[in-house]
Amino acid sequence: MSNEFDIKQAAVVGAGTMGRGIVISLASAGIEVLWLDANAQMVTAGLKMAAETWAHQVVKGRISEEQAEQNLARIQAVDSYAALADVDLVIEAVYENLELKQEIFRLLDGTLKPGAILASNTSALDIDAIAAVTRRPEQVVGLHFFSPAHIMKLLEIVRGAQTSPAVLAQATLLGQRLGKVAVVAGNCRGFIGNRMLKTYADEARKMLLEGAQPQQVDGALQAFGFAMGPFRMYDVVGVDLEWRARQLAGQGMDSPLVQVDNALCDLERFGQKAGRGYYRYAEGSREAGHDPEVDALIERIASNLGYHRRAIDDREIVERSLLALVNEGAKILEENIAASSHDIDLVYLNGYGFPAAVGGPMSWADAQGLASIRQRLEDLQQKLGEHWKPAALIAERVAAGKGFADVEGRA
Ligand code: NAD
Repeated sequence: MSNEFDIKQAAVVGAGTMGRGIVISLASAGIEVLWLDANAQMVTAGLKMAAETWAHQVVKGRISEEQAEQNLARIQAVDSYAALADVDLVIEAVYENLELKQEIFRLLDGTLKPGAILASNTSALDIDAIAAVTRRPEQVVGLHFFSPAHIMKLLEIVRGAQTSPAVLAQATLLGQRLGKVAVVAGNCRGFIGNRMLKTYADEARKMLLEGAQPQQVDGALQAFGFAMGPFRMYDVVGVDLEWRARQLAGQGMDSPLVQVDNALCDLERFGQKAGRGYYRYAEGSREAGHDPEVDALIERIASNLGYHRRAIDDREIVERSLLALVNEGAKILEENIAASSHDIDLVYLNGYGFPAAVGGPMSWADAQGLASIRQRLEDLQQKLGEHWKPAALIAERVAAGKGFADVEGRA
């Protein structure tokens, strides 16, 4: 494989939320796409959505009618793996389940030409475990798009233990071709973005149990500049996504931190799409209204779990949320999951609605001074427990009198 962009024809397996956005993104960039789903109706519905998306862009004057037609003509629905034999790249976007993805990668490996790249859009699964079922682990890579994939700028390129430099180079060129901000991430649970999001969302969930309300946590973070607070975000993506994943995996249901989410889902409060989640939504509206029923539910669960609720102010909410991001970001840098603190900031700015004016969580930490960050983490460690222990890299940086921005990684 050369340093030139070699991907002439791609395939996408899966025509759900992500598959649709990925196909629109590829075809809009002039790449031919074959499209396969176990349920052919999903591809039909996906083609309709793609056509509507481009028709809308024509109305807005962003593309011509001719371009819309050409885009649509680049997509071809197929109904077998054999039809994918000659593609240069396949992006898998089926349900988030390791066994299912492994089954598909076995099939792809057995069918696709030797040089073809096999990519997964998994949000958090182990890329090496997926690569391991193929005879070409060096050709396997994660291409983690964000929803909606034809709109969101971020692309995390996940480097497996054996992913070859040539494949990473092609993935980077693909990112450029699609107009994405591409960041290479090492392989760990959640990669850069979702790993940090988990620490941050867990802290928000703890604050709910300790005494805060969803609209207060979201309000404080939105006042800081986040596009959306965590509970509003869960309502938008669907509170049930993680709940279903916990059920499917048969683990994690008992964690105290997810008891509020579990209870919301038991009540079919799945979020905006259901008209009820952490908030209440009027028919057809996206406006998140306060729901006292949710406050009562949180209070009941917190009390059952033995929490003595207290007032939590906005300053504490912002402090704990940002420090949770920074400490996890420092661990990610320390483990070479990200090549630089700048890459971490890019992920947060382009995929997670972090305020652009602040420059990203790691830039924020550098501006605060890492000695101050360390002290504040140690204070939290003393008050709230060991999970606040500052990452080793922070002490190392403080001793060197440097910030995160000077760390040289090798991701
Ligand atoms: P989805 O449920 O909307 O779509 C999954 C599609 O896969 C369905 O159309 C289904 O028919 C198809 N499918 C299932 N088994 C199949 C098989 N054996 N062969 C072919 N097709 C099959 O899911 P989604 O939200 O698009 O997520 C897809 C992947 O993208 C997951 O790994 C998910 O973690 C990841 N992801 C999702 C988001 C998001 O916000 N939804 C964001 C980033 C990454």
